[in-house]
Amino acid sequence: MSYIVPEALHTSAPVPAPEPKLTEEQRQAILAAVEANWEKQVALTQELVAIPSLRNEEGAVQERLAAAFAERGLEVDSWHMNPDELAAHPGAGSTDRDYEQALVVVGTHTPSVPEADQGPSLILNGHIDVVPVGAPEQWERDPFEPAIVDGWLHGRGSGDMKAGLVGLLSAYDAIRAAGMEPAGRIHIESVPEEESTGHGTLATILRGYLADAVLIGEPTDGAIERAQIGLMWVKIRLTGKAAHASIMKEGFNAIDAAYAMIGDLRKLEDEWNIKAKENPLYAPIAHPINFNVGTIRGGDWPSSVPDWCEMVVRTAVPVGMDVADGWEEIQERVHRAVLENPGLEGATATVERVGYFSNPHEVPEGSAQEALLDEMVQYATGDRPKKAALTGYMDARLFGEYHDIPTLVYGPEVEGLHAPAEKVNLASVLECTKTTALFIAEWCGVVPKAE
Ligand SMILES: [Zn+2]
Repeated sequence: MSYIVPEALHTSAPVPAPEPKLTEEQRQAILAAVEANWEKQVALTQELVAIPSLRNEEGAVQERLAAAFAERGLEVDSWHMNPDELAAHPGAGSTDRDYEQALVVVGTHTPSVPEADQGPSLILNGHIDVVPVGAPEQWERDPFEPAIVDGWLHGRGSGDMKAGLVGLLSAYDAIRAAGMEPAGRIHIESVPEEESTGHGTLATILRGYLADAVLIGEPTDGAIERAQIGLMWVKIRLTGKAAHASIMKEGFNAIDAAYAMIGDLRKLEDEWNIKAKENPLYAPIAHPINFNVGTIRGGDWPSSVPDWCEMVVRTAVPVGMDVADGWEEIQERVHRAVLENPGLEGATATVERVGYFSNPHEVPEGSAQEALLDEMVQYATGDRPKKAALTGYMDARLFGEYHDIPTLVYGPEVEGLHAPAEKVNLASVLECTKTTALFIAEWCGVVPKAE
């Protein structure tokens, strides 16, 4: 999913981290509070993994999050997304969902000091939706059974990204358990729809939630995001000509046509990979741009030549290319394939956007936010954090592209992303929680906890 960027590719010298706001004793008290709360943190993560939150089924788990926010005295705002309002934004994707179960939940911490004395504000963001489990027979146990084996928490959504989301909340808890509270406004966001459009986070922005810094707890194996590819979900529908299978040659098989179309798309994928590698962050990655035929269906009857086939292709967009230009190019390529590829002679094709429509994004280097996170990672772990060029999607682009907030993406180590046997390394979760707690406290500043 990610590629670790070599030190030599950091274009600017690291800026010094801001002056420390906390004493050594305060920092140590926060670290100790993270440790003391660890069992509760793991238990809440397990509880959330056990509540399936597939697309448009996020309601139940979001209710649980809203309760968890309320228990902590956070001001809870939860609402259903409005598809029409979202559609007007240039960063919106396409969807045919009614969002009946897709609840967005934000918990807000307002410091107990006058506004003039408050520190910088912060958004802590994580997504609650999980991807489908795939072939059930490939799972050793129930995908929603949150078992812990050899220090890894298993289950769909364990790593992507319920452990990260609970980590953000637990980092906030630790500051308060240590007798302090953040001196800046904090919004803790649990969003749906990250795995399909990015609409959950977009909905928070449209509702007015912005801040001086954003930290997203996606699993990056302790690395900090430098860049991410753009993304489109493209549905291609091919039609052929039906006939009885006994006289197959009189018809034209739309499923065979899909094979031919995929061949043409692979050529475009090669071209975009060459383009992607012009960016030095992506040059060392073997295949940064991936066109994935994620779903395909077609035909109605084994003894009839199928006259339709539909596939949805996940297409990455190189850094430096506008997603709107990529969309034009895809459409042009599909229509040209119908005219020129002999394997598609007699077929018709329509192309439609059905999910993500996201620009690629490069995080600007040298921000105060990143300098502070770098330093806190070093303080908590002893090592400088790695930096990563991502070949997958992150909601960071919404804050970065439209609001110029240098958004940090940083989280634990995961195996089996979008695959069977998804699991998250609990030691890495603990480490990230410590770093995040220190980052929150140093970014916002702290004041004694209000009674
Ligand atoms: Zn994720």
